[in-house]
Amino acid sequence: MTLQNIDGPIRKDAEAMLDVITKFSMEVMRPAGIELDRMASPKDVIASGSVLWEVHKKFRELGLHTLQIPESLGGMGGQIDPVAAIQIYEQMGYADAGLTISLSASARTFHLAALFSNPDIQQLARDFCEDREGKMIGCWAITEPDHGTDWGMGNAIPECGPSVRAVLKGNEYILNGEKSAWVSNGTIATHATLHVGLEPGRGMQGHGLAILPLDLPGITRGKPLDKMGQRPLNQGGIFFEDVVLPKKYMVVPSPDFLNTRAGQGLAAVNGGMAIVFAGLARAAFDEAFRYSKERIQGGVPIFEHANIKQKLMKMFAQTEAARAAARQMALYNWKNPSSPSVTHAVAAKCFSTQTAFDVASDAIQILGGYGLAKEYPVEKMFRDARTSMIEDGCNDALAIKAAEYL
Ligand SMILES: Cc1cc2nc3c(=O)[nH]c(=O)nc-3n(C[C@H](O)[C@H](O)[C@H](O)COP(=O)(O)OP(=O)(O)OC[C@H]3O[C@@H](n4cnc5c(N)ncnc54)[C@H](O)[C@@H]3O)c2cc1C
Repeated sequence: MTLQNIDGPIRKDAEAMLDVITKFSMEVMRPAGIELDRMASPKDVIASGSVLWEVHKKFRELGLHTLQIPESLGGMGGQIDPVAAIQIYEQMGYADAGLTISLSASARTFHLAALFSNPDIQQLARDFCEDREGKMIGCWAITEPDHGTDWGMGNAIPECGPSVRAVLKGNEYILNGEKSAWVSNGTIATHATLHVGLEPGRGMQGHGLAILPLDLPGITRGKPLDKMGQRPLNQGGIFFEDVVLPKKYMVVPSPDFLNTRAGQGLAAVNGGMAIVFAGLARAAFDEAFRYSKERIQGGVPIFEHANIKQKLMKMFAQTEAARAAARQMALYNWKNPSSPSVTHAVAAKCFSTQTAFDVASDAIQILGGYGLAKEYPVEKMFRDARTSMIEDGCNDALAIKAAEYL
């Protein structure tokens, strides 16, 4: 790492863990991300023998998937120094943002499962902690072909209701509808956190939440999505046709409960994005800085030219501002899980992702023609960063929503 670490001391055990993660991120994630990014088809990314599975398996072997699951269910929850947890996710974003999202999305469903008292649902969290091979993979399925930003806006008008509907019949729900091709891990997930319409008359606010296995009869998948950035991140649609869902899987059967917690969800998801993409900004800065010391033009390293120094200092300031805002927000929200600051989380997400994009773009400029070549990592970082400005909510629409919490 080129940038000086000004976080202050972290616990010794956390320091050791951070060393392990740094090694994993740079020796496993970074090269795997580059290999997966260059694959011609997104089908190759998830083919058996793909390096993607090695990344998931090694992540599990390190036990990192249990970071946010309580000890009573076999996880590491509560033990980790929060500053170290932030540094871990930032370092993973530094190595490969798309893979970081795949790994964290694979765990989020089971973190959530741990919060419910229903023993069958909690058992999922327990089984996930024990899974060291990457057999259980989660996804968060909310976006639908006709409803993207609509979900974040929470429109209450009946014409704007979720397309995936659940109708209660006795002790079972019948599910029908489609989740869009944007679901991260959509074609490889074994389990999902699924947002479903329960009361269509209430628009997007009439929804409930299910945590369910995706091998139930009537569930099928779309083809893996081919996209510009974060190509190592598998994405794809999930289809539901007369799926019989036992009632126990509908963990939130009341829209009111979810509506009062919408801010918590937004803060959690956007908070994570802020940290990961501050990491990507740091990675792009480091590449540009390193290159500026090596590339000779005009008889000197280009670092000696005033315009390059100025650009690097601007990139440095932007990156450090993103990292600082993400850290302060994450520490506050970590300590206040039931009343997190939504505005800080959304502001930090928008700022980090915009910064990652701007810094990666300036990094390309500093590398000149080589910045555009696949031989150097900044071209991929630029594409990955651009993607993040839409991921987990378009930045412009997120700002409109978050302003309500000011
Ligand atoms: C890399 C990546 C990973 C993702 N992972 C997941 C995932 O795991 N699970 C999942 O369910 N989804 C996921 N998504 C989907 C993502 O959440 C949506 O793409 C996003 O919410 C935007 O929805 P949309 O693409 O349908 O755009 P739209 O909602 O169609 O928006 C198009 C444009 O219109 C603007 N707009 C729309 N409505 C309004 C409004 N009311 N006010 C003002 N402006 C508006 C938007 O800002 C945007 O510029 C992912 C997306 C990406 C790119």
